[in-house]
Amino acid sequence: MKIERIETFLVPPRWLFCRIETSDGVVGWGEPVVEGRAEVVQTAIEVLSEYLIGQDPLQIERHWQVLSKGGFYRGGPVLSSAVAGLDHALWDLAGKVYGAPVASLLGGRVRDRVRVYAWVGGDEPAAVADQVFEQVEAGMTAVKMNGSGRISPSPSVAEINDIVARLGAARGALGDTRDVAIDLHGRVGVAGARRILRAVEDLQPLFVEEPVLPEHMAHLAEVVSTSTVPVALGERLYHRADFLAPLNAGVAVVQPDVSHAGGISELRRIAVLADTHGAMVAPHCPLGPISLAASLQVAFATPNFLIQEQSRGIHYNVASDLTSYVTDPAPFTWVNGHAEWNPLPGLGVTVDEAAVRAAAKTGHAWRNPVWTHEDGSFAEW
Ligand SMILES: [Mg+2]
Repeated sequence: MKIERIETFLVPPRWLFCRIETSDGVVGWGEPVVEGRAEVVQTAIEVLSEYLIGQDPLQIERHWQVLSKGGFYRGGPVLSSAVAGLDHALWDLAGKVYGAPVASLLGGRVRDRVRVYAWVGGDEPAAVADQVFEQVEAGMTAVKMNGSGRISPSPSVAEINDIVARLGAARGALGDTRDVAIDLHGRVGVAGARRILRAVEDLQPLFVEEPVLPEHMAHLAEVVSTSTVPVALGERLYHRADFLAPLNAGVAVVQPDVSHAGGISELRRIAVLADTHGAMVAPHCPLGPISLAASLQVAFATPNFLIQEQSRGIHYNVASDLTSYVTDPAPFTWVNGHAEWNPLPGLGVTVDEAAVRAAAKTGHAWRNPVWTHEDGSFAEW
């Protein structure tokens, strides 16, 4: 069996899928994307396909080594995301050939269900509480919210109080048996992050995500030691070596993205590295169905897994959602806030190929918003 054809599909709302077909007619799907830079990753896939065509698809690790390192230059979001999508497709293919879910090929499942969280929005505390109640009624046991919208790198008392009020509203609606996490998106500086962590400490969030940007890693240990709040990060890191510094700084939770950090193969290695530091894994995934399916396979097979992000109903997905490109939404139907074990082979989802081909005719040109502060200078989104 040889790899015969590799195609990519740019589909709304902001995703890129890849499809690998073998000489035996077996097909594997992957999701190689950097949100807002999808066309760049698409071109990287074209270049990497030169190597893969004609290869045995079952030698996944051999191909991962060549795809990641064979160009001399390596790493970074674009190349690591291209490798990630191809890696998903190869694992999907292998699962279909062997007749087993990817989690079974990774050593078998270590849990029977996978906890997921839902995103909630709301600018005012009352609106936050309303959205949290909706999720509690839907059976969710955890939610995540943005700490703030646009915020000064050196936040004011009012800005910090606003974060505390909204988080407090969420905590009030959730009670003590459910969890809330907040995402700061690296929007504030090191000192601001330390103030915020102290301010939210009594509300006991599950974690505070990206309190500072990855480029401020040198000061991460100070940020972590500011409070008892678990610090999480990793959506903008792309290789196991990138995770060494934050793990040494004491982060409690790492959040590699299966579509950015080298795919299923590398996510497994990052999880093991985190385990050696006593840290948990909560894979980042505000993306599409193939990325989430790949994340769930890792979650089922990874002992130090904490919780899975997922994008069902997320604000990015306006015209299309997680279930728009699969023939059966069951793998993404949460039962009491959890994904159930899914015995289907490969990644466990059946891609609706006709829907994908039709949507790719429209494609997309999604770009993230560019924010400015009141004085017109650039603001982190
Ligand atoms: Mg985030």
